[in-house]
Amino acid sequence: MDDTPLIAGAGPTGLAAALFLAERGVTSRIVDPAAEPSKTSKALAVNPRSLELLESTGVTARMLAEGRPLIRARVTEAWKPLAEIDITDVHPRFPMLGLSQARSEALLAEALAERGITPRRGVGLAGLSQTPAGVEVDLSTSDGVIERTVAPLVLGADGAHSAARHALGLELEGSTLPEPWPLYDLELETGLDPHAAQISLYPDGLVFMLALEGGLWRVMGNMPDVLDRLPPGSVAGRIVWESRFKISHRMVRSMAEGRVCLAGDAAHLHSPIGARGMNLGIEDAYAFAACAADALKGNLARLRDYGRLRHHVDHQVVRRVELITRLVRARSPALRMLRRFGLAVAVRAPTLAMQFKRTATGLDHDVALS
Ligand SMILES: Cc1cc2nc3c(=O)[nH]c(=O)nc-3n(C[C@H](O)[C@H](O)[C@H](O)COP(=O)(O)OP(=O)(O)OC[C@H]3O[C@@H](n4cnc5c(N)ncnc54)[C@H](O)[C@@H]3O)c2cc1C
Repeated sequence: MDDTPLIAGAGPTGLAAALFLAERGVTSRIVDPAAEPSKTSKALAVNPRSLELLESTGVTARMLAEGRPLIRARVTEAWKPLAEIDITDVHPRFPMLGLSQARSEALLAEALAERGITPRRGVGLAGLSQTPAGVEVDLSTSDGVIERTVAPLVLGADGAHSAARHALGLELEGSTLPEPWPLYDLELETGLDPHAAQISLYPDGLVFMLALEGGLWRVMGNMPDVLDRLPPGSVAGRIVWESRFKISHRMVRSMAEGRVCLAGDAAHLHSPIGARGMNLGIEDAYAFAACAADALKGNLARLRDYGRLRHHVDHQVVRRVELITRLVRARSPALRMLRRFGLAVAVRAPTLAMQFKRTATGLDHDVALS
């Protein structure tokens, strides 16, 4: 048996897990069916919690050197100012950092390569079964060959359609909002502050805007015509990436079954409002590495600890983000009134405002390891 743990998925969660394991002296193998890393970015922000966790790996310093601190959120109604929330006081050392997921993944992969670990691409997890001594894994290569390998433990960090999760017979349980959310990354001439997250509320939905690297902006929202709702004076140029997604709030019943654990989108999904998905995956990875390193020394019960600790935290985050999302997208007049009232109170009540900011920056819970 190969005695190195196997990680399925070289997205941010899988890369971070391998890096955190390496920090604990454990070498792992990562496989990913994608021939190369994704060039487009879903996530746009690294939160202070992830920067804390990654600090000892050296990745935080690199992220800070490349990223752009986000210092406030500006909320408007059809671009007429409603509220401005300063987020510079949320963490004593680290900002909420604007940095694309593609660059975040590249920096994680670079740090991992420096530790001698490179994902094996063109190879995906196709199935697994557990024995008392380990996990038998079928890997499928891009030319259709199935390879059998055995690992002492496996992390399924293989995204929303996780093959590892399917092999465990687990579902992402929850619900999906009906409306599609269009997304555009585009060139934009605008006077908007690039250090602010911009949210503009409308009776029929919202538009969210954030500056990206290279003079581009992300525009997304839950109305079909978000590009017709740009702020006055802004001129849209070339669209470099266009997509649409649906928002789900879903979670698995269990994040650890025997010697197989799940992390990141393989285990939980929620709306991008709050910028938590990738960051929560990095947190899962941190806790997994601590528990897996102990399990590899013989204390297998630590994998159950991982499942218990992370299920509790992730479940709460999914519920909280769902609540905020339902309030923000406010489809009924009553919810819209509540949205306005909640915002007015949050801006005037410093304790409530800080609670909101800590939720939005990933600091609403501790990262427990036992
Ligand atoms: C519009 C949008 C905006 C977002 N903004 C933010 C944000 O600002 N901040 C934030 O934190 N999050 C954000 N998110 C969420 C974030 O993008 C995801 O939560 C994050 O990508 C999850 O990382 P992951 O590594 O768990 O999964 P993924 O990124 O999906 O990576 C999974 C990897 O597994 C691989 N894989 C697939 N099948 C297999 C297999 N059979 N075997 C092995 N590998 C496999 C895939 O090729 C992929 O590389 C956003 C999401 C959306 C849609």
